[in-house]
Amino acid sequence: MAAIVVVGSLNLDTTARVGRLPRAGETVLGTGHSTDTGGKGANQAVAAARLGRRVSMIGRVGNDDAGRRIRSVLEQEHIDAQVAVDDVAPTGMAFITVDDVGENMIVVSPGANAAVSIADVERAADLIANATVLLLQLEIPTEAVHHAAMLCRGTVILNPAPAAELPTGLLEAVDILVPNRTELAVLTDTEPGDSADEITRQLDLLPVASGIVTLGADGALVRSGGETITVPAPRVDAVDATAAGDAFCAGFADAIAAGATPVEAARWAVRVGAVTATRRGAQASLPNRTEVETLT
Ligand code: ADP
Repeated sequence: MAAIVVVGSLNLDTTARVGRLPRAGETVLGTGHSTDTGGKGANQAVAAARLGRRVSMIGRVGNDDAGRRIRSVLEQEHIDAQVAVDDVAPTGMAFITVDDVGENMIVVSPGANAAVSIADVERAADLIANATVLLLQLEIPTEAVHHAAMLCRGTVILNPAPAAELPTGLLEAVDILVPNRTELAVLTDTEPGDSADEITRQLDLLPVASGIVTLGADGALVRSGGETITVPAPRVDAVDATAAGDAFCAGFADAIAAGATPVEAARWAVRVGAVTATRRGAQASLPNRTEVETLT
């Protein structure tokens, strides 16, 4: 199968469960905690690999236990890991606190992700240039993202998360942008759009050929070739939408790598996102291909 290359973040997530979130200066006793590998880059790489795609992941971890754990997960998932080990910065960490009603507080400490450099990208230049699809997010320095986008001769997909304003040159190097409503609003310096018309107008402000906006339980809006098409999400019993956005991006990239149009790819991606939303956790909730195919 054609290859997807992900250049992005790798984190270790620690989640503590609490009855209620602490206020500034306060300590509360939690009811349990767990650690899991995460980071938008790694989540999307794992999701694409579980769909059966050949995946390479380029990024940076620290020379520590968290970094070793992440590399062993990539190996288990059969991902070709081109991951540099940083002798100075620690592995990126996310500190997540979730209360009884699912409200959360998250601090991401980028660590080694912030040290991903143009030189790291250059070391993988051949791989990136020859990727069928290059899948990017914004949890590593923008100049590294931009450099990778410029090198790729295949289809460049950018999930602009977390939300940030971007240089025009980077957007011009992207073929397909996959934001959610909030990210699109930040990119266009407008308020989040509610209607298909508003979202279409926002997408048309940006210098990208195609834009796919994820809409949670409402599915996705596809703007391509001057047309707007809304793709509904399958109805599921959603319990936790963590990583649903990452699953969507991976599903979308998977279908584009197989030669699908943006609308066809979105129809597959909403199914990958929907299955993910029916399960708790981040990487643990990402489905394999059969689970997506058999979703009714
Ligand atoms: P993000 O978390 O990045 O904002 P979304 O919440 O838009 O992403 O979710 C991404 C995709 O996951 C959606 O486009 C949809 O396909 C799927 N999804 C998310 N929540 C649900 C849900 N409650 N029911 C069905 N599909 C969902």
